[in-house]
Formats: sequence, C-alpha cells, structure tokens
Amino acid sequence: MRFSATVPGIARIGAYRELKRAVEGYWAGRIDRTALEEVAARIRRTGWQELLTAGLDSIPVNTFSYYDQMLDTAALLGALPPRVAGIDDDLDRYFAAARGGDGVTPLEMTKWFDTNYHYLVPEIGPDTVFSLHPDKVLGELAEATAQGIPARPVVIGPITFLGLSKAVGGGADPLTRIDELLPLYRELLGALKQAGAQWVQIDEPILVTDAHDGLPDLAERIYTELSAVPERPELLVQTYFGDAREALAALGRTGVEAVGVDLVYGSAETVAAAGLGEKLVVAGVVDGRNIWRTDLDAALETLTGLSGAVGALAVSTSCSTLHVPYSLEPETDLDDALRGWLAFASEKFAEVVALSRALEHGRAYQAKAFDAARDALASRTTDPRVHVAAVRDRLAALTPADFARPEAAGRRESQQASLGLPQLPTTTIGSFPQTVDIRKARQALRKGEIDGEAYRTAMEAEIASVIKLQEELELDVLVHGEPERNDMVQYFAEQLDGFFATANGWVQSYGSRCVRPPILYGDVARPDPMTVGWITHAQSLTQRPVKGMLTGPVTILAWSFVRDDQPLADTANQVALAIRDETTDLERAGVGIIQVDEPALRELLPLRSADRQAYLDWAVAAFRLSTSGVADETQIHTHLCYSEFGDVIGAIADLDADVTSIEAARSHMEVLDDLNAIGFGNEVGPGVYDIHSPRVPDAGEIAASLQEALAAVPAQRLWVNPDCGLKTRTTAEVTAALRNLVTATKQVRATLG
Ligand code: GLN
Ligand code: ZN
Repeated sequence: MRFSATVPGIARIGAYRELKRAVEGYWAGRIDRTALEEVAARIRRTGWQELLTAGLDSIPVNTFSYYDQMLDTAALLGALPPRVAGIDDDLDRYFAAARGGDGVTPLEMTKWFDTNYHYLVPEIGPDTVFSLHPDKVLGELAEATAQGIPARPVVIGPITFLGLSKAVGGGADPLTRIDELLPLYRELLGALKQAGAQWVQIDEPILVTDAHDGLPDLAERIYTELSAVPERPELLVQTYFGDAREALAALGRTGVEAVGVDLVYGSAETVAAAGLGEKLVVAGVVDGRNIWRTDLDAALETLTGLSGAVGALAVSTSCSTLHVPYSLEPETDLDDALRGWLAFASEKFAEVVALSRALEHGRAYQAKAFDAARDALASRTTDPRVHVAAVRDRLAALTPADFARPEAAGRRESQQASLGLPQLPTTTIGSFPQTVDIRKARQALRKGEIDGEAYRTAMEAEIASVIKLQEELELDVLVHGEPERNDMVQYFAEQLDGFFATANGWVQSYGSRCVRPPILYGDVARPDPMTVGWITHAQSLTQRPVKGMLTGPVTILAWSFVRDDQPLADTANQVALAIRDETTDLERAGVGIIQVDEPALRELLPLRSADRQAYLDWAVAAFRLSTSGVADETQIHTHLCYSEFGDVIGAIADLDADVTSIEAARSHMEVLDDLNAIGFGNEVGPGVYDIHSPRVPDAGEIAASLQEALAAVPAQRLWVNPDCGLKTRTTAEVTAALRNLVTATKQVRATLG
C-alpha cells in the first residue's frame, strides 16, 4: 500500500485564475452558488488529472479551498468565530469569516510561515466548543474516488492548527486545548477509513519552527495517540518549510506509517539520524516554493543516500506547489536558456516522477530527463547574464565605509539647516489612490493603444493633481503619489538587469488575491535611473520638498523568486547597489529627502531563532549599503509595516535611517516604547491612523493618537503620517483623513508653544 511519487498539495486558484474570477463573481452576486461550485469542481478535476497523468501514484485531495486552508480547518473543527454563527448558508458564513461584511469583522490575516501566502488566524476563546464537520473533506474524497484518483485526503494537524490560532476573550493559549481536538481527529480518521481512504496526510509544518516550547514532545504524544486509533487509514505526518529536527525523532517513536520531510530547506542527515526505522519517508527533494529546475543528479544522490536509513522512500516536492505558478507553458516570451532553468508546478510533477522512477530502476532508465537537467544547469552556470564581472568586481571592492553614514546627530543638524521643516512635520507614506484613470492608462499602454509618451503625460497629470492636493492640505513633505507603479517591487524589477517578469506566473497571496512575483535570475545592475524623472517632475511643481520613493533590497528579495545559486546576502547587496545608485542620482537631481521602504523586513525572518541574527545582519547591511551613498544633508526615510516588530526592533535601529515611519495606530503606539527600550534616538513617524479601513478618523482622534506618541517621543524627533501607503483608499477618504491629520497636528503644535 506504499506509494512512490506524490506532492503534499497543489495550487487551487486555477491555471488562469478561474477561481478568482468565480468567487469574486459570487461575492458581487454575478453568479450563483451552483456556478461557483462548477468552477471549483473543474479546477479540482483538472488538478487531479494532471497529477495522475504525470505519473503520481498517491494524490492529495482536500487541498482545494475557496479561500484558505486554515479557515477550512476552523470550519472542520467547528471553530469559526461565534459572530458568523447567525449566517445560515454555510458558504456565506465561511466567506463572512474570511472577508467580514454586514457588521461582521473578518478574522485577522497573517503570513503562512516564511512564505508570501497569508492565512486567516482562527480565534479560540473560552466559548469555543470544538465539533467535527467533515463534509468538505469527505465530499472531495468521494469526488476524487469516483474519478478513479488514488486519493490521499489532507488536513492540517491539531498542533499546527492551534499553534497558529490566537486566543481571544481572555482564553488560554490555544495549544493548551489540544486534548479537546484529539477525539475529533480520531473520529475523522475513522470516517475517512470508512469512506475508503487508504492514506491520510496530516500537515504539521509548525514542527519545523520553535514557535512554542516542547513541540517535539507534544508531537510524540499526539501522534502516539492518533496512531493508536484501531480502524484508520495509514498516517502520513507531513512537515515542510525547514528541518523538523527533534520532532522527526519524536515522530519516529510513534506508530505513524509515514513522515514527510523537506529536503530542500531541511537536511537529509537529520532524517537519516532520526530513527525512522521501517517508516515510509516522503522525501521533498524538489523545491515546492521556488521556481528553479531541480538538479536531478544531486536529488537522486540525496535519495539513494537516505534509502538505507529508512523503511521506504517516496519522492515529493518540499511543500505544496501552492507557492509557485502553474506551468511554464504560457511563458512564450522566455528565451530558451531561461526557460530551461525553470520548473513551475507542472514541470515539478514531472521531476518528481523522473526521480522516483530513477530511484527504482536506475538513472539510465530516465536518461533523457537527467541529461536535460544537467544541460540546463550547465547553461545556467555559464550564462553571461548570471555572472557579470562588473557587478562582481563592484561587490568585491566594498569596504565597511560603504555600509555606514557619519553620526546621526551631525546628519540631523545638516538636515535641519537645509530642509527647515516645522516641528512635527507632516507627510504620507508614498502612494496616493490608484484611480480608475491610472489603471486604464496602464492597460492602454500594455495593449499598445497609447504610446509611452501619452502614458507619461497621463501619469504627470496624476502627479500634478496629487501635488496640488497636498499643497492645499498644507502637508510639509510631499510625495509624487506613485501612480506609475503597478507594484512596488515589480516596478523596479522591470527596470533592473537580472530580473524578468512572467506573463502568467500568478500565485495566490490570500483569498482571491494573486501576485506575480518577478524572477531574480542573474547579477543585478541598474542600466538607467528608475524614478528620477517622476520625482523631479513632481518637485518642479512645488516649493515644498518632495520625497523620493524607493523599495529596499530586502523587500525586493522577499517579493521575488530569488536565485538559489549564491547566498541571499550577495544577491541583496547587488540589489542594494542598484538602489544606492538611484539615491545618489536623486540627490544629484536636487531631491533632499529619499524614502527606502522595507515593509518586508520582518517577513524573511528565519523560522528558527538560532538562524535569525545571521539574517538580520545581512538584511541590515543591505539596507545600509543602499542608503549610505548620500551626503549628510540628504534625509533618508524608511517605512515598515505589516507586522509585530518585537523580533526585529534592534534591526530597525541598526538600519540607521534618519526617519522611520512605522505602522502603529492599531497597536496604540506600543512600538514606540519598544524603540525607546533599545535606545532608538533617530526621528520616527508612528502611523497616527489606520489606513486599512475606509473609516475617516476625525481630528480629535488623530490628535489623541499624536498625544499618545508624544508621551513616548519628544516633539523634536516626531513626525506625523498615516500608517501606510494610501493606494487602496479613495481620493475622498484620503482628502478628508489628511485634512484632519493636518488640523490635528496644528492643534498639537499650538500646545507645544
Ligand atoms: N511607499 C509605499 C506606498 O506608499 C509603501 C507600501 C508599503 O508599505 N507596503 O504604497
Ligand atoms: Zn506600509
């Protein structure tokens, strides 16, 4: 009953984002539930058939989701928030928990481990009474079985589910409630067995982290109990996104039949040493979350090296292919070399099968696949775009001085003299609303309906109106509004050497939202200035200072697929040099304030605490490299958001930006105390209102939040700004909110004397 080739899960948004269009149509009332369910069933069928045709002999089911797999698990375990309980229709109840509506606030959303996927955070409170609702998983199992699919149902395990949930209503740490879930999982195993499942996969990615104490012991206890269920399918406990270390040995001591391991981000040595005895090891040797073609020779070596230490091996991807695009097929613009280096999901399925057959019958049996992989790898190593001497020489010549600016106090004096800003200067984070006109112009340019010149004119008109608005509002430091940017990373990637953009490389970010990350494949250089024209145009329209806007190297890496053939630190420094060139060009063009955004600083933080300092060291260094080429008078800003900053607070100070704007409104300025605690002495702009909601805060409210900030930071170091960029808001909301922000600032200034 063992299998030899599989994947832990696959994408579900549809190769051409069919599910996105269908759910959005359903939300808008354009299609009914039946039509939506038809699209969903078609996506599932196509996905399973593709895996079957590729040659996989065990196929994950129940990895489909209308929105999110954690939300599905909350529904499975009866743990949707009580505030949606009144909604009769089960699908509408589910969507309300995801997106809110009619006075219902949605669940919070946060990053799924260190990926760019966001899951909904289940809320576990004193009133939560767990109960089993297995209709979705049983339904998909029946559907797959009827189609002749060797189906392996997948559910998220109790440790991961509770470990990623949050306590509400004064409830205890959700993990303390795990014994309440055990009977439900037992019942589920029985039901799946009855429905004919031979295997069930229970995902426990939390075992590769040290997010909670005692995870290995907990895993041993829980899976000893679950494997003791008498009538059940065989059990695969699946880990991914890193090395499960002690937890693997713990699982080895339980009665589960199989363990899934990530051998791309984890190590084969741990697996070999884990005492997995007679168990089947599902070996993730094909990278499930990056887009590079597998070195089949190396992967086969890993597999053969392991085969003596474990009961049996099945070949797999390191994680669900949810995190990579569907297929290379639509990428018709790629040159052959580039195409040869890549493997999206479809191509990865073929790699898994080639490896599993080679493992069984010998490499010669798969000679064609292995030869092609070897040729591609050779071409990647020798391609002149991948190793550019000028870029490498420049990196090699860097000295510590390139990563530092003179003392912050001296810089502050120079900047005060040159900028002459009032106390509590007001500004925004960069983007203004992405209006319909902007989107239309960009679309028209893409379709060739207008030329570059007409596009530029349209964007300049947008900039002019944003400048005029900010002058009317009497903001102190203006921005150009970023109308020309489709996305804050893609915009730069499109202009830098070493990147390319895919045509259809969409991956789900959350719910129906997808992103198309650029691919960073070669040495990075900046052939021409990227933002100088727009910023200087904006500056030509006003006497007030206009702040230049750039995206930082860490964020550019975090939101791209990044080359895997050199340390991330080196890639980050290459990007940093390109940004540095842009800052010095901006400075030369007369721009006195430059913001380098790093909203993703927290995101790339390694899952294991022992690895964190090394990451923060290179991340901070790359930011500093990108910002220390300018003179003392030039004021460097940075912006951080989307996170709890506790783990990276020291790094924020080490960035040594002159001004740091930071999300703070929702956490009531707590971040300021954290900054004070580490002796942060530079200027700071804690967001005084939350831009994520359409609600317009009144001046009194903003003044109160400003007073809260003043309790922690002296006026000399304090800026006034919203929490984040304004691109998702309407012009009416933005105008009203910023007017109140300026009024509040004036009131508070008056009290300062
Ligand atoms: N400058 C960017 C903007 O305003 C920053 C976006 C972000 O923080 N994610 O849109
Ligand atoms: Zn932000």
